Amino acid sequence: MSDRLRGSCLCGGVRYVCSGPLRQMARCSCIQCRKASGAEFATNAMVAQGSFQLLAGRDLLREFESSPGQMRVFCGRCGSPVYKRYSGDPEAIRIRTGLLDDAFDERPQLQVFVSEKLAITRVDDSIPSFERGVPAPPER
Ligand SMILES: [Zn+2]
Ligand SMILES: [Zn+2]
Repeated sequence: MSDRLRGSCLCGGVRYVCSGPLRQMARCSCIQCRKASGAEFATNAMVAQGSFQLLAGRDLLREFESSPGQMRVFCGRCGSPVYKRYSGDPEAIRIRTGLLDDAFDERPQLQVFVSEKLAITRVDDSIPSFERGVPAPPER
């Protein structure tokens, strides 16, 4: 379990701290995560409830509602995707793990939205994969 994980955006304007265990860590190849990250897939995880604390950059944060009730929060200066929040579940914070500055022990547990992956993305046979998301809880 990873305690006190620090994260920051590309420009350094947004900084946060959160705690593990990082749950439901998933590699998501959905088209939204691909476009939001500019990468083949995003690796996303839930942080311990109530542990996410923004240290700097609140004024830089912008939101995009990519699906109804699902807000992608990013740095308005450098574009780094920071986390996703859900209007129906205000306590849930799903970070984009690429922004973490501290090492963590958790590993991706699943792959989701492989139906939307790029042709070059290799599916990891050692963990479960799903054509789309998993029904609940939120997976993107
Ligand atoms: Zn930034
Ligand atoms: Zn996704």
